[in-house]
Amino acid sequence: MTMWCERAVIDGEVVDGVRITASGDGLITSVERATRPADGEMRLGLVVPAFANAHSHAFHRLLRARTHADGGSFWTWRTAMYDVAGRLDPTSYRAVATAVFAEMVGAGFTAVGEFHYVHHRPDGAPYDPPHAMELALVEAADAAGVRLTLLDTCYLAASPRRPLEPQQRRFGDRDADTWLHRWYALRDVLAASGSEHVTLGAAVHSVRAVPPAAIARIGASLPDDVPLHVHLSEQPAENRASIEAFGMTPTEVLDEAGVLGRRLSVVHATHLEPTDVRRLGAAGVSVVMCPTTEADLGDGIGPARELADAGARIALGSDQHAVIDPFLEARALEHGERLAHGARGRFTPRELWDAATRGSYEAIGLRGGRLEAGMPCDLVEVDAASARTAGSDPAQVIMAATSSDVRTVVAGGRVVATGGRPLVGQPEELLMTAMEGMSRR
Ligand SMILES: [Zn+2]
Repeated sequence: MTMWCERAVIDGEVVDGVRITASGDGLITSVERATRPADGEMRLGLVVPAFANAHSHAFHRLLRARTHADGGSFWTWRTAMYDVAGRLDPTSYRAVATAVFAEMVGAGFTAVGEFHYVHHRPDGAPYDPPHAMELALVEAADAAGVRLTLLDTCYLAASPRRPLEPQQRRFGDRDADTWLHRWYALRDVLAASGSEHVTLGAAVHSVRAVPPAAIARIGASLPDDVPLHVHLSEQPAENRASIEAFGMTPTEVLDEAGVLGRRLSVVHATHLEPTDVRRLGAAGVSVVMCPTTEADLGDGIGPARELADAGARIALGSDQHAVIDPFLEARALEHGERLAHGARGRFTPRELWDAATRGSYEAIGLRGGRLEAGMPCDLVEVDAASARTAGSDPAQVIMAATSSDVRTVVAGGRVVATGGRPLVGQPEELLMTAMEGMSRR
Protein backbone atom coordinates (compact mmCIF):
# COMPACT_ATOMS: atom_id res chain seq x y z
CA MET A 1 0.00 0.00 0.00
CA THR A 2 1.39 3.39 -0.97
CA MET A 3 0.01 6.74 0.17
CA TRP A 4 1.04 10.13 -1.03
CA CYS A 5 0.45 12.96 1.44
CA GLU A 6 0.39 16.56 0.36
CA ARG A 7 1.83 17.34 3.78
CA ALA A 8 2.58 15.43 6.95
CA VAL A 9 3.42 16.40 10.50
CA ILE A 10 6.50 14.35 11.35
CA ASP A 11 8.14 14.83 14.76
CA GLY A 12 6.18 18.05 15.11
CA GLU A 13 7.49 19.50 11.82
CA VAL A 14 5.53 20.05 8.61
CA VAL A 15 6.98 18.14 5.66
CA ASP A 16 5.71 18.52 2.07
CA GLY A 17 5.16 15.73 -0.47
CA VAL A 18 5.49 12.66 1.76
CA ARG A 19 5.20 9.17 0.31
CA ILE A 20 4.47 6.45 2.88
CA THR A 21 4.76 2.82 1.86
CA ALA A 22 3.45 -0.04 3.97
CA SER A 23 4.13 -3.77 3.77
CA GLY A 24 1.45 -6.45 3.65
CA ASP A 25 1.82 -6.97 7.40
CA GLY A 26 0.84 -3.38 8.09
CA LEU A 27 4.23 -1.85 8.94
CA ILE A 28 5.67 1.29 7.39
CA THR A 29 8.55 0.33 5.11
CA SER A 30 9.57 3.81 3.94
CA VAL A 31 8.79 7.49 4.43
CA GLU A 32 10.09 9.62 1.55
CA ARG A 33 10.07 13.41 1.64
CA ALA A 34 9.75 16.04 -1.10
CA THR A 35 8.16 13.62 -3.57
CA ARG A 36 5.55 14.11 -6.28
CA PRO A 37 2.42 11.96 -6.54
CA ALA A 38 2.42 8.98 -8.88
CA ASP A 39 -0.42 7.04 -10.49
CA GLY A 40 -2.08 4.37 -8.38
CA GLU A 41 -1.20 5.88 -5.00
CA MET A 42 -3.79 6.79 -2.41
CA ARG A 43 -3.83 10.61 -2.34
CA LEU A 44 -4.18 12.27 1.05
CA GLY A 45 -4.06 15.88 2.23
CA LEU A 46 -2.58 16.77 5.63
CA VAL A 47 -1.53 13.59 7.45
CA VAL A 48 -0.55 13.20 11.10
CA PRO A 49 0.39 10.13 13.13
CA ALA A 50 -2.65 8.29 14.47
CA PHE A 51 -3.70 8.74 18.09
CA ALA A 52 -3.92 6.26 20.95
CA ASN A 53 -6.48 6.50 23.73
CA ALA A 54 -4.57 5.44 26.85
CA HIS A 55 -7.52 5.31 29.25
CA SER A 56 -11.04 4.16 28.39
CA HIS A 57 -14.02 2.67 30.18
CA ALA A 58 -16.15 2.05 27.10
CA PHE A 59 -19.47 1.63 28.90
CA HIS A 60 -19.21 5.06 30.59
CA ARG A 61 -20.23 6.42 27.17
CA LEU A 62 -23.79 5.48 28.16
CA LEU A 63 -23.76 8.36 30.68
CA ARG A 64 -22.78 11.10 28.22
CA ALA A 65 -24.90 14.23 28.75
CA ARG A 66 -27.29 12.37 31.04
CA THR A 67 -25.84 13.29 34.46
CA HIS A 68 -25.64 17.08 34.37
CA ALA A 69 -29.05 18.14 35.61
CA ASP A 70 -28.63 17.68 39.35
CA GLY A 71 -25.12 18.91 40.08
CA GLY A 72 -23.50 16.52 42.49
CA SER A 73 -19.91 15.33 42.63
CA PHE A 74 -17.59 12.62 41.38
CA TRP A 75 -19.20 10.33 43.95
CA THR A 76 -22.82 10.95 42.86
CA TRP A 77 -21.74 10.47 39.23
CA ARG A 78 -20.23 7.17 40.32
CA THR A 79 -23.61 6.00 41.63
CA ALA A 80 -25.13 6.58 38.17
CA MET A 81 -22.20 4.72 36.63
CA TYR A 82 -22.77 1.72 38.94
CA ASP A 83 -26.43 1.61 37.84
CA VAL A 84 -25.35 1.30 34.21
CA ALA A 85 -22.62 -1.23 35.04
CA GLY A 86 -25.19 -3.38 36.81
CA ARG A 87 -27.29 -3.68 33.65
CA LEU A 88 -24.55 -4.90 31.30
CA ASP A 89 -24.22 -8.42 29.97
CA PRO A 90 -21.79 -9.76 27.36
CA THR A 91 -24.14 -8.94 24.47
CA SER A 92 -24.78 -5.34 25.49
CA TYR A 93 -21.16 -4.84 26.56
CA ARG A 94 -20.00 -5.91 23.09
CA ALA A 95 -22.59 -3.70 21.41
CA VAL A 96 -21.70 -0.60 23.45
CA ALA A 97 -17.96 -1.18 23.07
CA THR A 98 -18.32 -1.61 19.30
CA ALA A 99 -20.10 1.75 19.09
CA VAL A 100 -17.51 3.45 21.30
CA PHE A 101 -14.52 1.94 19.50
CA ALA A 102 -16.14 2.97 16.20
CA GLU A 103 -16.43 6.53 17.51
CA MET A 104 -12.75 6.37 18.45
CA VAL A 105 -11.71 5.15 15.00
CA GLY A 106 -13.71 7.94 13.39
CA ALA A 107 -11.95 10.43 15.67
CA GLY A 108 -8.49 9.20 14.65
CA PHE A 109 -7.63 6.75 17.42
CA THR A 110 -6.13 3.49 16.18
CA ALA A 111 -5.37 2.02 19.62
CA VAL A 112 -7.13 2.00 22.98
CA GLY A 113 -6.28 0.91 26.51
CA GLU A 114 -9.54 -0.41 27.94
CA PHE A 115 -9.43 -0.32 31.75
CA HIS A 116 -11.89 -3.15 32.21
CA TYR A 117 -13.40 -4.16 35.52
CA VAL A 118 -16.95 -5.44 34.73
CA HIS A 119 -15.80 -9.06 34.87
CA HIS A 120 -18.52 -11.20 36.40
CA ARG A 121 -22.27 -11.58 36.67
CA PRO A 122 -23.99 -8.93 38.80
CA ASP A 123 -23.86 -11.21 41.86
CA GLY A 124 -20.12 -11.78 41.39
CA ALA A 125 -20.40 -15.33 39.99
CA PRO A 126 -18.17 -16.00 36.97
CA TYR A 127 -19.64 -16.32 33.50
CA ASP A 128 -19.84 -19.73 31.93
CA PRO A 129 -18.07 -20.08 29.56
CA PRO A 130 -15.51 -17.88 31.32
CA HIS A 131 -14.10 -14.53 30.13
CA ALA A 132 -17.36 -13.62 28.34
CA MET A 133 -17.04 -9.92 29.12
CA GLU A 134 -13.36 -9.79 28.13
CA LEU A 135 -14.05 -11.57 24.84
CA ALA A 136 -16.90 -9.12 24.17
CA LEU A 137 -14.35 -6.28 24.23
CA VAL A 138 -11.98 -8.18 21.94
CA GLU A 139 -14.76 -8.80 19.43
CA ALA A 140 -15.74 -5.12 19.56
CA ALA A 141 -12.16 -4.01 18.87
CA ASP A 142 -11.81 -6.50 16.02
CA ALA A 143 -15.05 -5.25 14.47
CA ALA A 144 -14.02 -1.58 14.71
CA GLY A 145 -10.44 -2.21 13.54
CA VAL A 146 -8.83 -0.61 16.60
CA ARG A 147 -5.85 -2.15 18.41
CA LEU A 148 -6.88 -3.06 21.94
CA THR A 149 -4.74 -3.26 25.04
CA LEU A 150 -7.11 -5.01 27.42
CA LEU A 151 -6.16 -3.75 30.88
CA ASP A 152 -7.82 -6.41 32.97
CA THR A 153 -8.34 -4.79 36.33
CA CYS A 154 -7.97 -6.19 39.83
CA TYR A 155 -10.66 -4.75 42.13
CA LEU A 156 -10.90 -6.18 45.64
CA ALA A 157 -12.37 -3.69 48.11
CA ALA A 158 -14.75 -0.75 48.40
CA SER A 159 -12.08 1.18 50.29
CA PRO A 160 -9.23 0.23 52.61
CA ARG A 161 -10.39 -2.63 54.88
CA ARG A 162 -13.99 -2.46 53.62
CA PRO A 163 -15.38 -5.28 51.48
CA LEU A 164 -16.97 -4.68 48.09
CA GLU A 165 -20.40 -3.13 48.13
CA PRO A 166 -23.17 -5.17 46.45
CA GLN A 167 -23.03 -3.15 43.22
CA GLN A 168 -19.24 -3.66 43.05
CA ARG A 169 -19.41 -7.46 43.34
CA ARG A 170 -19.20 -8.09 39.64
CA PHE A 171 -15.94 -6.11 39.46
CA GLY A 172 -14.20 -8.18 42.11
CA ASP A 173 -12.10 -11.28 42.59
CA ARG A 174 -11.55 -12.93 45.96
CA ASP A 175 -7.90 -11.91 46.29
CA ALA A 176 -4.81 -11.10 44.24
CA ASP A 177 -4.04 -14.75 43.52
CA THR A 178 -7.56 -15.43 42.27
CA TRP A 179 -7.26 -12.43 39.98
CA LEU A 180 -3.79 -13.57 38.80
CA HIS A 181 -5.14 -17.02 38.05
CA ARG A 182 -7.92 -15.50 35.97
CA TRP A 183 -5.44 -13.18 34.21
CA TYR A 184 -3.16 -16.06 33.15
CA ALA A 185 -6.15 -18.12 32.02
CA LEU A 186 -7.38 -15.16 29.96
CA ARG A 187 -3.93 -14.81 28.42
CA ASP A 188 -4.11 -18.42 27.20
CA VAL A 189 -7.60 -17.91 25.79
CA LEU A 190 -6.57 -14.76 23.92
CA ALA A 191 -3.46 -16.45 22.52
CA ALA A 192 -5.64 -19.27 21.21
CA SER A 193 -8.22 -16.86 19.75
CA GLY A 194 -5.82 -15.60 17.10
CA SER A 195 -7.09 -12.02 17.34
CA GLU A 196 -4.62 -9.71 15.63
CA HIS A 197 -5.75 -6.70 17.56
CA VAL A 198 -5.45 -7.52 21.24
CA THR A 199 -2.62 -7.19 23.76
CA LEU A 200 -3.31 -8.21 27.35
CA GLY A 201 -2.27 -5.67 29.93
CA ALA A 202 -3.19 -5.33 33.59
CA ALA A 203 -4.45 -2.82 36.10
CA VAL A 204 -5.00 -2.47 39.80
CA HIS A 205 -8.03 -0.26 40.15
CA SER A 206 -6.61 2.13 42.76
CA VAL A 207 -4.98 2.22 46.16
CA ARG A 208 -8.52 2.58 47.47
CA ALA A 209 -9.73 -0.68 45.93
CA VAL A 210 -6.64 -2.94 46.13
CA PRO A 211 -4.69 -3.45 49.38
CA PRO A 212 -0.94 -2.70 49.34
CA ALA A 213 0.07 -6.36 49.78
CA ALA A 214 -2.11 -7.34 46.80
CA ILE A 215 -0.57 -4.57 44.67
CA ALA A 216 2.90 -5.87 45.58
CA ARG A 217 1.89 -9.45 44.81
CA ILE A 218 0.50 -8.49 41.40
CA GLY A 219 3.50 -6.33 40.53
CA ALA A 220 5.84 -9.21 41.33
CA SER A 221 3.78 -11.89 39.60
CA LEU A 222 3.07 -10.37 36.18
CA PRO A 223 5.58 -10.70 33.34
CA ASP A 224 7.89 -7.64 33.19
CA ASP A 225 6.71 -6.54 29.75
CA VAL A 226 3.03 -6.30 30.69
CA PRO A 227 1.78 -2.71 31.01
CA LEU A 228 0.29 -2.05 34.45
CA HIS A 229 -2.16 0.81 35.06
CA VAL A 230 -3.65 2.34 38.20
CA HIS A 231 -5.98 5.24 38.99
CA LEU A 232 -3.98 7.59 41.21
CA SER A 233 -5.14 10.43 43.45
CA GLU A 234 -8.11 11.45 41.30
CA GLN A 235 -10.00 12.73 44.34
CA PRO A 236 -8.82 14.22 47.66
CA ALA A 237 -10.96 11.62 49.46
CA GLU A 238 -8.75 8.87 48.04
CA ASN A 239 -5.68 10.54 49.48
CA ARG A 240 -7.34 10.95 52.88
CA ALA A 241 -8.38 7.29 52.94
CA SER A 242 -4.85 6.21 52.06
CA ILE A 243 -3.21 8.35 54.71
CA GLU A 244 -5.71 7.23 57.31
CA ALA A 245 -5.35 3.53 56.50
CA PHE A 246 -1.66 3.29 55.61
CA GLY A 247 -0.04 6.50 56.82
CA MET A 248 1.11 7.16 53.25
CA THR A 249 -0.07 8.96 50.13
CA PRO A 250 -1.30 6.67 47.32
CA THR A 251 1.96 7.33 45.42
CA GLU A 252 3.96 6.25 48.48
CA VAL A 253 1.84 3.09 48.73
CA LEU A 254 2.68 2.23 45.11
CA ASP A 255 6.35 2.93 45.76
CA GLU A 256 6.39 0.72 48.87
CA ALA A 257 4.62 -2.00 46.87
CA GLY A 258 7.50 -1.90 44.38
CA VAL A 259 5.46 -1.07 41.30
CA LEU A 260 6.79 2.40 40.38
CA GLY A 261 8.70 2.00 37.12
CA ARG A 262 8.55 2.45 33.38
CA ARG A 263 5.89 -0.22 32.83
CA LEU A 264 3.51 1.62 35.18
CA SER A 265 0.92 4.13 33.99
CA VAL A 266 -0.75 6.25 36.64
CA VAL A 267 -4.09 7.67 35.55
CA HIS A 268 -5.16 11.22 36.54
CA ALA A 269 -2.43 12.00 39.13
CA THR A 270 -4.47 15.05 40.09
CA HIS A 271 -3.85 15.62 43.79
CA LEU A 272 -0.15 15.02 44.37
CA GLU A 273 2.35 16.18 46.95
CA PRO A 274 5.65 17.59 45.62
CA THR A 275 7.39 14.44 46.88
CA ASP A 276 4.92 12.30 44.91
CA VAL A 277 5.81 14.24 41.75
CA ARG A 278 9.51 13.60 42.34
CA ARG A 279 8.97 9.88 42.97
CA LEU A 280 6.81 9.40 39.88
CA GLY A 281 9.23 11.38 37.72
CA ALA A 282 12.33 9.56 38.96
CA ALA A 283 10.62 6.21 38.24
CA GLY A 284 9.85 7.30 34.65
CA VAL A 285 6.20 6.28 34.87
CA SER A 286 3.68 7.22 32.21
CA VAL A 287 1.07 9.64 33.47
CA VAL A 288 -2.26 9.33 31.67
CA MET A 289 -4.00 12.66 31.94
CA CYS A 290 -7.73 12.65 31.10
CA PRO A 291 -8.40 16.40 30.98
CA THR A 292 -11.94 16.37 29.58
CA THR A 293 -13.03 13.83 32.19
CA GLU A 294 -11.20 15.63 34.99
CA ALA A 295 -13.05 18.80 34.00
CA ASP A 296 -16.38 17.00 33.59
CA LEU A 297 -16.18 15.36 37.01
CA GLY A 298 -14.68 18.35 38.77
CA ASP A 299 -11.57 16.39 39.74
CA GLY A 300 -9.12 19.26 39.47
CA ILE A 301 -6.03 20.01 37.39
CA GLY A 302 -3.06 17.71 37.93
CA PRO A 303 0.59 18.88 37.81
CA ALA A 304 1.28 17.60 34.30
CA ARG A 305 4.12 20.02 33.50
CA GLU A 306 5.84 19.36 36.83
CA LEU A 307 5.51 15.60 36.26
CA ALA A 308 6.96 15.87 32.76
CA ASP A 309 9.84 18.04 34.05
CA ALA A 310 10.51 15.48 36.78
CA GLY A 311 10.91 12.71 34.18
CA ALA A 312 7.43 11.24 33.76
CA ARG A 313 6.02 10.63 30.27
CA ILE A 314 2.67 12.19 29.45
CA ALA A 315 -0.15 10.25 27.77
CA LEU A 316 -3.82 11.07 27.22
CA GLY A 317 -7.10 9.23 27.62
CA SER A 318 -10.78 10.06 27.21
CA ASP A 319 -11.73 7.90 30.24
CA GLN A 320 -15.52 8.32 30.69
CA HIS A 321 -15.98 9.68 27.15
CA ALA A 322 -17.76 12.94 27.84
CA VAL A 323 -16.10 13.53 24.48
CA ILE A 324 -14.02 11.23 22.28
CA ASP A 325 -11.70 13.61 20.53
CA PRO A 326 -7.88 13.50 20.61
CA PHE A 327 -7.61 17.16 19.63
CA LEU A 328 -9.90 18.35 22.42
CA GLU A 329 -8.10 16.11 24.91
CA ALA A 330 -4.68 17.48 23.99
CA ARG A 331 -5.97 21.03 23.99
CA ALA A 332 -7.66 20.57 27.36
CA LEU A 333 -4.32 19.49 28.82
CA GLU A 334 -2.70 22.75 27.72
CA HIS A 335 -5.77 24.83 28.56
CA GLY A 336 -5.82 23.46 32.11
CA GLU A 337 -2.16 24.37 32.48
CA ARG A 338 -2.78 27.90 31.18
CA LEU A 339 -5.76 28.43 33.49
CA ALA A 340 -3.89 27.12 36.51
CA HIS A 341 -0.65 29.01 35.87
CA GLY A 342 -1.56 32.14 33.92
CA ALA A 343 0.92 31.36 31.17
CA ARG A 344 0.75 30.05 27.61
CA GLY A 345 2.87 27.34 26.05
CA ARG A 346 3.19 25.14 29.14
CA PHE A 347 3.21 22.31 26.60
CA THR A 348 4.41 23.10 23.09
CA PRO A 349 2.34 21.85 20.12
CA ARG A 350 5.08 19.26 19.54
CA GLU A 351 4.71 17.99 23.10
CA LEU A 352 0.94 17.80 22.69
CA TRP A 353 1.30 15.75 19.48
CA ASP A 354 3.74 13.47 21.30
CA ALA A 355 1.43 12.99 24.31
CA ALA A 356 -1.55 12.14 22.10
CA THR A 357 0.39 9.81 19.81
CA ARG A 358 3.66 8.10 20.82
CA GLY A 359 3.27 8.77 24.55
CA SER A 360 -0.17 7.20 24.59
CA TYR A 361 0.89 4.19 22.52
CA GLU A 362 3.82 3.64 24.85
CA ALA A 363 1.56 3.80 27.92
CA ILE A 364 -0.50 0.90 26.62
CA GLY A 365 2.53 -1.16 25.66
CA LEU A 366 2.32 -0.68 21.90
CA ARG A 367 4.63 0.63 19.23
CA GLY A 368 3.09 3.36 17.13
CA GLY A 369 2.19 7.00 16.83
CA ARG A 370 5.15 7.80 14.60
CA LEU A 371 5.46 8.13 10.86
CA GLU A 372 8.71 6.21 10.44
CA ALA A 373 9.89 2.95 8.93
CA GLY A 374 9.30 -0.08 11.12
CA MET A 375 6.29 1.41 12.91
CA PRO A 376 2.73 0.20 12.34
CA CYS A 377 1.19 2.10 9.43
CA ASP A 378 -1.30 4.09 11.53
CA LEU A 379 -2.14 7.56 10.30
CA VAL A 380 -4.87 10.16 10.16
CA GLU A 381 -5.80 12.60 7.41
CA VAL A 382 -6.98 15.92 8.86
CA ASP A 383 -9.04 18.43 6.89
CA ALA A 384 -6.75 21.46 6.85
CA ALA A 385 -9.33 23.65 5.11
CA SER A 386 -12.40 23.35 7.34
CA ALA A 387 -14.11 26.24 9.11
CA ARG A 388 -12.03 25.34 12.17
CA THR A 389 -8.66 24.69 10.55
CA ALA A 390 -8.42 26.96 7.48
CA GLY A 391 -5.37 29.19 7.72
CA SER A 392 -3.82 27.29 10.61
CA ASP A 393 -0.15 26.34 10.69
CA PRO A 394 -0.41 22.54 10.23
CA ALA A 395 2.15 22.02 13.01
CA GLN A 396 -0.25 23.80 15.38
CA VAL A 397 -3.51 22.40 14.03
CA ILE A 398 -3.83 20.34 17.20
CA MET A 399 -4.89 23.67 18.81
CA ALA A 400 -7.74 24.18 16.31
CA ALA A 401 -9.04 20.91 14.83
CA THR A 402 -11.68 18.62 16.31
CA SER A 403 -12.56 15.04 15.52
CA SER A 404 -14.99 16.46 12.92
CA ASP A 405 -11.92 17.28 10.83
CA VAL A 406 -10.73 13.67 10.67
CA ARG A 407 -11.12 12.21 7.19
CA THR A 408 -9.26 8.99 6.31
CA VAL A 409 -7.90 6.81 9.11
CA VAL A 410 -5.44 3.98 8.44
CA ALA A 411 -4.62 1.33 11.05
CA GLY A 412 -2.06 -1.35 10.36
CA GLY A 413 -1.98 -0.37 6.69
CA ARG A 414 -5.73 -0.85 6.37
CA VAL A 415 -8.30 1.94 5.88
CA VAL A 416 -10.65 1.84 8.90
CA ALA A 417 -12.43 5.15 8.33
CA THR A 418 -13.03 7.20 5.24
CA GLY A 419 -14.66 10.62 4.90
CA GLY A 420 -14.61 10.69 8.72
CA ARG A 421 -16.85 7.61 8.84
CA PRO A 422 -15.71 4.32 10.38
CA LEU A 423 -16.14 1.36 8.04
CA VAL A 424 -17.75 -0.75 10.80
CA GLY A 425 -20.77 1.56 10.82
CA GLN A 426 -22.01 4.89 12.10
CA PRO A 427 -21.15 5.21 15.79
CA GLU A 428 -24.44 6.93 16.60
CA GLU A 429 -26.49 4.15 15.01
CA LEU A 430 -24.43 1.46 16.72
CA LEU A 431 -24.87 3.22 20.05
CA MET A 432 -28.61 3.73 19.73
CA THR A 433 -29.05 0.08 18.77
CA ALA A 434 -27.02 -0.93 21.82
CA MET A 435 -29.08 1.32 24.12
CA GLU A 436 -32.36 0.03 22.70
CA GLY A 437 -31.16 -3.54 23.20
CA MET A 438 -30.41 -2.78 26.85
CA SER A 439 -33.79 -1.20 27.50
CA ARG A 440 -35.57 -4.26 26.07
CA ARG A 441 -33.81 -6.63 28.44
ZN1 LIG B 1 -10.81 5.64 34.82
